[in-house]
Amino acid sequence: MMDYDCKREIVEVCHLLAEKGFAGTYEGNVSCRNGDKVYLTPTTQSKIHASEGKIITVDLDGNPLEGELRPTSETPMHTTVYKVRPDVKAVVHCHPPLATAYAQANRDIVCKAAPEFLILFGEVPCLKYGKPGTTEIIDGIQKYIMDYDVILLGNHGVLAVGQNPEEAYAKIVSLEILLKTVYYRQQMFGDINCDLPEEEVKRLTAIGAPNRGCRSVG
Ligand SMILES: [Zn+2]
Repeated sequence: MMDYDCKREIVEVCHLLAEKGFAGTYEGNVSCRNGDKVYLTPTTQSKIHASEGKIITVDLDGNPLEGELRPTSETPMHTTVYKVRPDVKAVVHCHPPLATAYAQANRDIVCKAAPEFLILFGEVPCLKYGKPGTTEIIDGIQKYIMDYDVILLGNHGVLAVGQNPEEAYAKIVSLEILLKTVYYRQQMFGDINCDLPEEEVKRLTAIGAPNRGCRSVG
């Protein structure tokens, strides 16, 4: 991938995040890895006005290499993923309303009623709340991102990984749409059991397993 492609794809996803209401003006961040360089959105810049010229470049330890704006304080969330998951080329972090509601409630997302959820995600674990400025969030990400491509950050939001920014973003869109159907179902039909038989849940979860988590592990 060319440097320019990385920047263009980050900008496109920033615009989508803003349009979808998945991130407040200054919330969320998007990054893309190219070799030893990480391209990423700067701190306190609105996503709707993101542009290639504002994207900054850091190394895998988060040290600034290029760009006039400052890296986001959430840079270590991104560089940690790239260090432990060499197969990952992009990270999207944002606060989509329904998934973030689960994160605030500190609930793992488990849905045994929708085949596409079981194939795509298996489940979406929620990490314990990590105090800003400590390594708690990083420790949790290091542990869970090996096995999952989408995780919830307790009392905070969502983090997704992919082969490019659009793929990571697409996983978040799929999750948010699914959570909308769960929400509607609960409003329309109450707390009825819609789970598929346990055997089918296991079969569907296993179908998607090779495409989730670190490809070099297991
Ligand atoms: Zn955030």
